[in-house]
Amino acid sequence: MSGTETSETIHVGGVWRAAASGATREVLDPADATTLQVVAEGGAEDADAAVAAAKAAFDGGAGAWPRTSAGERAALLRRVADLLQRDREQIALIESRDTGKTLEEGRVDVDDVTNAFRYFADLVVNESGGRVVDAGSPDVHSVVVHEPVGVCALITPWNYPLLQASWKVAPALATGNTFVIKPSEVTPLSTVHLVRLLVEAGLPAGVANIVTGAGLPVGQRLAEHPDVDLFSFTGGLVSGTKAGAAAVSGAKKIALELGGKNPNVVFADACATDEGFDTAVDQALNAAFIHSGQVCSAGARLIIEESVRDRFVAELARRAEKIKLGRGTEQGVECGPLVSQQQLDKVEAYVASALAEGANLRCGGARPEPSDVRPATGYFYRPTVLDGCHRGMKVVREETFGPILTVETFTTEDEAVTLANDTEYGLAGAVFSADTARARRVAARLRHGTVWINDYHPYLPQAEWGGFGKSGIGRELGPTGLDEYRESKHVYENLRPQPVRWFAG
Ligand code: NAD
Repeated sequence: MSGTETSETIHVGGVWRAAASGATREVLDPADATTLQVVAEGGAEDADAAVAAAKAAFDGGAGAWPRTSAGERAALLRRVADLLQRDREQIALIESRDTGKTLEEGRVDVDDVTNAFRYFADLVVNESGGRVVDAGSPDVHSVVVHEPVGVCALITPWNYPLLQASWKVAPALATGNTFVIKPSEVTPLSTVHLVRLLVEAGLPAGVANIVTGAGLPVGQRLAEHPDVDLFSFTGGLVSGTKAGAAAVSGAKKIALELGGKNPNVVFADACATDEGFDTAVDQALNAAFIHSGQVCSAGARLIIEESVRDRFVAELARRAEKIKLGRGTEQGVECGPLVSQQQLDKVEAYVASALAEGANLRCGGARPEPSDVRPATGYFYRPTVLDGCHRGMKVVREETFGPILTVETFTTEDEAVTLANDTEYGLAGAVFSADTARARRVAARLRHGTVWINDYHPYLPQAEWGGFGKSGIGRELGPTGLDEYRESKHVYENLRPQPVRWFAG
């Protein structure tokens, strides 16, 4: 599935190979729990070898990758973008089979990844050259230049494997770093393919290294490794803070993109016309259930004005019931399976806890009947709407990462804002209102890294992505997403050197 059917999925210093221990792992197709591909199960020694290769490539001679021009690096990124488009169908299929998402979502991901490579290629060329600063004297030339940070350890999650990898790999390469990437052990295949494309595009040996394997030990070893200069992690709050603590203790640069529990605030005025009502319901459905809710920015909390709740939730539940489940590669399928048995168990436990805490089940709340979904052995769960929810419930507070939409209500604008901000996370949120002034007022008060007005989910490579609160540290994408991968260096040049005479003797 990764392009060639081999378990040599570790790439270190320009060589594809198996794990040093010989260990392997079966990567499963979540639609039927069969084995998609056997990959190398790397260990700490593979992580060490990969870091050593990345360090050697970084420290290499005058012609080494960190010392190439921004133009050369941009050209390589553009070649990678072209190769991604050449392999678009193949990669979309890999991503769909590995994560369970629909083939069309896989295609969108490949296009978004291509755009990320092109965006960072353009940005680094435009942003290179340094910034001359006024030192207050004609005898001084003072300039701030950018340099790569060094060896980057990049850790990615299973839900958008290639997309999350590209938000790290493209800026890391654009700025001249070398890296070791560790994709999720659940969905590593598209990242293996990406590294093959980097090699094909002409990246020198040792610049891009990949170790397939588990968070413990591979991710943790990368977090702790003394020769890693930058640790960039996307994943859950618990593993992210643990890995981040290990990285911080070594005084590395650190970036964490963590979870979200994202509010979708709908005012009654958004539903005043039939068209507005239809749009708000449709967007709420998309916000919560695309990719079966396995999206960090999923609009999993519907916060709706009390006066329209009954009509809105009834229509939402009616439409959620009709979402077609099945293998993501099948024509007409709208939602694939959850990624694993573990994820399915987690979702079932959240629904059980919500019902025990008094939520009203409006639809879903169970696995589909075997006769209603093909293949019947997949990790499917029906889109679920839970009404009558409140902040005291675990299902409202915690990220479920599944097709569960909770409904809370408000009667005033202040109450809507208070509810929307009442989360330890702060990744994304939306407000739907026909009153532009109100929508902007509320958007300004939301403590979330991305806020949509009358829309949900779009993002732009040129706009920063990341979270307030426990959704993380730092930003990806945009100019800040490039800056994360470079050091600033101030070069102060005295054009007329003279003695200082600070000391009299
Ligand atoms: P996860 O935290 O279980 O795993 C993420 C990655 O971290 C994997 O590669 C895993 O092997 C590795 N890992 C686990 N423990 C580690 C450790 N101790 N040290 C180093 N690495 C370790 O997350 P997941 O289940 O793969 O992904 C889902 C999570 O990712 C959700 O919380 C979701 O919100 C988040 N996510 C966030 C964003 C964002 O942009 N903020 C994007 C996508 C996903």
